[in-house]
Amino acid sequence: TLKSMFEQTVSKYGDKEGLVDARLGTRWTYKEWDTEVNRVANALITAGVEKGDKVSTVLFNTAEFTTTLFACTKIGAVFNPINFRLTEKEIEFILADAEPKVVVFEKATAGAIEPVAKSMTGVQFWSIDDPSVQYASYFYDVVSKASDTSTAIMVGEDDPYAIMYTSGTTGLPKGVIHSHRDMMDQAMIMVACLRLTDQDRGLTIAPIFHCAELHCAFFPRVMIGASNVIMHHFDAKGLIETVKQERVTTMFAAPTMWNMVLQEEFTKEDFQTLRQALYGGAPMAPSLTTRLHSSIGVALIQAYGMTEMGPAITALTEEEQLTKAGSAGRAILNHEVRVVRTREDGPAEPEDICKPGELGEIIVRGPSTMQGYYKRPEATEEALYGGWYHSGDIGSFDEDGYLWVSDRVKDMIVSGGENIYSREVEDALFDHPDVLDAAVIGEPDEVWGERVVAFIVRKGDQITEQMLDEFCTSGNRLARYKRPRRYEFVEELPRNASGKLQKFKLRDKTGIATE
Ligand code: AMP
Ligand code: MG
Repeated sequence: TLKSMFEQTVSKYGDKEGLVDARLGTRWTYKEWDTEVNRVANALITAGVEKGDKVSTVLFNTAEFTTTLFACTKIGAVFNPINFRLTEKEIEFILADAEPKVVVFEKATAGAIEPVAKSMTGVQFWSIDDPSVQYASYFYDVVSKASDTSTAIMVGEDDPYAIMYTSGTTGLPKGVIHSHRDMMDQAMIMVACLRLTDQDRGLTIAPIFHCAELHCAFFPRVMIGASNVIMHHFDAKGLIETVKQERVTTMFAAPTMWNMVLQEEFTKEDFQTLRQALYGGAPMAPSLTTRLHSSIGVALIQAYGMTEMGPAITALTEEEQLTKAGSAGRAILNHEVRVVRTREDGPAEPEDICKPGELGEIIVRGPSTMQGYYKRPEATEEALYGGWYHSGDIGSFDEDGYLWVSDRVKDMIVSGGENIYSREVEDALFDHPDVLDAAVIGEPDEVWGERVVAFIVRKGDQITEQMLDEFCTSGNRLARYKRPRRYEFVEELPRNASGKLQKFKLRDKTGIATE
């Protein structure tokens, strides 16, 4: 369990630096970290939280996120980390669905919490940084009164550890249930994949509520006894400074974050201690990967996956970055990936396997597969049809067995009967040195059914629609039918906290109906 994992690391590495949080100005050894965790665990028990009850957080990357999380694992409470960027309505939906006993939040998220807190009964709200909130208790008032002795509650590997609501770039968010065992398998595999040791120093700068950071980077580091530095929120300059000051050796960031780092001034020296940089959770254009690699001079590792799978299922290792740039790599240990033919009238059949080069739906299975969607048995059955998780991603395998992710099934554009995969068009646009960010969607077209529209964030205002059109068609970069028919230049693109494009917002902007 995560409980025994944390306890084992504490007993083995007790005097080692466990957690560094600049916001609190704290540097806890693993033992000190554990003492805090025990206090929070006992405070939760006093608040009436029993085994199986839910505890929600609406927190940025904070020490209190980690102490609440491990406290839950110690008492068998189910942890429910909520995206700090969600609106009041979305948070209200999740809290009504998850029914937590306690909700931990902070000043930075209080705006969305306050109306919900005032309308909910039977739920306790705890603020970590504001003792003056009327509708909430102050976290440290509650926690400082609690004992720091270890709790004696039995937690089993099949007990649920968390309910995580998927980003919901389409439809209502669904709560993904993961067991303790799911996390142990994912963490052990990532320790091996990243070759982590207790000498590593990790940086948490991507949102810790999201499984990409929490499960692929943070848990594996705690499991192996590495040190952890946590930054409240992403800031490109802060990232560069912290890597240098804290002698960070390993870290994860979303592609869009690395893109922002590339727009800062720095030298390879600044990244001297870093031995690996992870990216994933959303597509990254090969030209960006190449630029990142040559400018920070650090080994890159890509992970591809989804919340339902724990999340990682494939990785592109450091050795494969340059030969297979743009591919999502191959299955990580003990995982299986297939590309199968899609069906009009139901989930794809796991045995209807595509040939190399043929596009289809990516289906996957592995030991960290979710236990199911909370309160959604039908959605669970459909998603796990035939024992494989149906990802809703379109992709293909190449002749060497590498996976290429092309698009979300729902984002694919059909123009004149031909399928156009956004990824290919976006990657081509990213090749232009003055394109800082790019997204394409389909808009209705009387003749072709749909036509490609591109949204571009450009450097300065030198490039024009005509220049981009020439760029796309020159040198066989894109077949003519795939090139954007219209461009919109925008200040920034709508992305969620983990860096995924929110294409429904682009469709809303152009008045295109979204389902
Ligand atoms: P989530 O459950 O929020 O982690 O979202 C999972 C989805 O993110 C996947 O189904 C993919 O569409 C996308 N995704 C995650 N990692 C990658 C990656 N390395 N490359 C391309 N898309 C990715
Ligand atoms: Mg499992």
